[in-house]
Amino acid sequence: MDTAQLIDGKAVAANLRKEIAEQVKLRSEKGLPAPGLAVVLIGEDPASKVYVGSKVKACEEVGFVSRSYRMDVETTQGDLLALIDELNADAEIHGILVQLPLPKQIDVQSVIERIDPKKDVDGFHPYNLGRLAGKAPTLRPCTPYGCMRLLKAYGIDPMGKKAVVVGASNIVGRPVALELLMERATVTVCHSKTQDLPAELADADIVIAAVGIPNFIKGEWLKPGAVVIDVGINRLANGKLTGDVDFEAAKAKVAAITPVPGGAGPMTIACLLQNTLEACEAMEAA
Ligand code: NAD
Repeated sequence: MDTAQLIDGKAVAANLRKEIAEQVKLRSEKGLPAPGLAVVLIGEDPASKVYVGSKVKACEEVGFVSRSYRMDVETTQGDLLALIDELNADAEIHGILVQLPLPKQIDVQSVIERIDPKKDVDGFHPYNLGRLAGKAPTLRPCTPYGCMRLLKAYGIDPMGKKAVVVGASNIVGRPVALELLMERATVTVCHSKTQDLPAELADADIVIAAVGIPNFIKGEWLKPGAVVIDVGINRLANGKLTGDVDFEAAKAKVAAITPVPGGAGPMTIACLLQNTLEACEAMEAA
């Protein structure tokens, strides 16, 4: 039976982008500057180039100031930190994003910690992660923020539900677990050392999948009526994109599920724009 509701991330993201564009217009009518985002790309990683291109385009569409910085793959940590210092001091820029992954010679944590937390629109700085852990979020990691906005858009309240997060990375699994905990779900975080994943999933009301293995989570592992947000984006040999959840089997069983593509993915960039707007407004209010 094919019963699951499709959680349409493309539509929710388009609405959010429209709201942001309206805010930018209102700001301009009041004589306030457009929010500004700087995106830094080091090297020639093809996927990173695509992501950076999409971010720059999304910024331009909502009327933000958008700057992109391309640096050579041999760039030193010192040069990158110097650029971050410049951007931290630049009044036209409210958000700084350094596209990950970084080349081996650069220590990612030092880079994350050098960005002014007020401009950390990726939400990876320990200050912003700490605020999220302390139930007083400031700038929040974009993909988890996007997952929560998707749940909200579909009227799914995590309070009191059992939520299972599969994947414990710094950019998705851990912060999405904090988001769900903040909404008072009972949260379990699974990872590569989890002993019995099907048993963990068997009574999960909400499943967030962020593993990076195509069709890894089987339909039979899911509870009937569960809500599934599939963050995974995996490219198959035939060029098609697929998620971490076996979508066809899952959708016959669960209440609601995100497609891949068109689910969690589009929300990430929309939340990056939202964070940049929030960063700009917070700086003006300070
Ligand atoms: P990651 O590789 O950093 O982390 C993967 C996590 O999965 C790890 O915590 C690991 O322990 C866990 N894992 C691996 N094997 C497992 C197993 N057998 N059982 C349970 N857990 C297991 O990946 P990530 O950066 O968090 O990304 C995960 C997926 O989400 C990827 O497909 C990535 O492309 C996608 N992603 C999408 C967006 C978006 O915008 N929608 C953003 C970030 C990542």
